[in-house]
Amino acid sequence: MMKKLPILLTPYIKTRYPYDKLKICRHCRHFTVLGETECPVCGKSALQKVEELAASTLRRSLWGSRLTVLLITAIGLVMSGSTMQTILLAIGGTALLALLWTMQRRSTPALLRLELEKLFHREAYPLIAGLANDRETAIKVFHSGDKPLAYEMLREIGALVHTDQLRIEQILLLQSFVLRKDMDLMLEPLLMDHFDPDLVEYIGELAKIRRDLLKENTFRYILLHEGHILKMEHGESILVGVAGAAVRMKRYLTLYPYLIMRYARKLPKDRFLRLYRIIESSPKSSFGPLYEEVMSIYNERYKWDEDFLPAHKERGV
Ligand SMILES: [Zn+2]
Repeated sequence: MMKKLPILLTPYIKTRYPYDKLKICRHCRHFTVLGETECPVCGKSALQKVEELAASTLRRSLWGSRLTVLLITAIGLVMSGSTMQTILLAIGGTALLALLWTMQRRSTPALLRLELEKLFHREAYPLIAGLANDRETAIKVFHSGDKPLAYEMLREIGALVHTDQLRIEQILLLQSFVLRKDMDLMLEPLLMDHFDPDLVEYIGELAKIRRDLLKENTFRYILLHEGHILKMEHGESILVGVAGAAVRMKRYLTLYPYLIMRYARKLPKDRFLRLYRIIESSPKSSFGPLYEEVMSIYNERYKWDEDFLPAHKERGV
């Protein structure tokens, strides 16, 4: 088995939109999600956030329409034949400008999204090429031996590029690290449709250290590929771990009762106690066969266990 590396990971900075970290070089028009100021292609300190680029394009076009209104008003004023006409034109022009200004201010966020969409559409090819170049940079970093940095780079690219190849590369790197619960780990973005033993192993690791990362999509993935997982070397213990993570919330007991039922007998005592507490405090009808199974395990093994007495209710998850 490959020796795992103890490493430190930089926390992942979440952004409101996936493209928030995407930048474009003002000099060579190269797109990248890596680096803050220096362009990885031309080396110039000319990186600009795509959102800033779209905002400046939008500002120019908004000013264009304001100037058009001003120009029309000015021509009208020059050509007006009487004082009354001049006053009416001045009032009308000012009101129109104020209205336009207010409308533009209110619709700026929506217009900015539209401008970004246009930018991505217009620059689709350079954008794909830029992100492919970012991935190649990460692979080079990997070959140079800096695996944590390579993973962090792939993680950034993964926010925008949703391919299984990129997911597998991240999972393989994660599987070469000693994972700890204080690390900024993620699972949902790495889930795939097809069965992947490395992904399953990674889920198994997380079931031990970060149960909170296992949610509906993971349980569905595990259920879908349960047959394949059981054929893996430690498949059953991974499934027990996943069932142990599912007893974290009552909702998961309702959603996946059969997954939990199949592995309830193999759960470690603390996870079974958690399961028992939820089942015992709910109406019998809520869980059907799961209720029967849990009670039968309880009667066989834990009936005389002090930890299962009502006075010893656990507090943690
Ligand atoms: Zn450049």
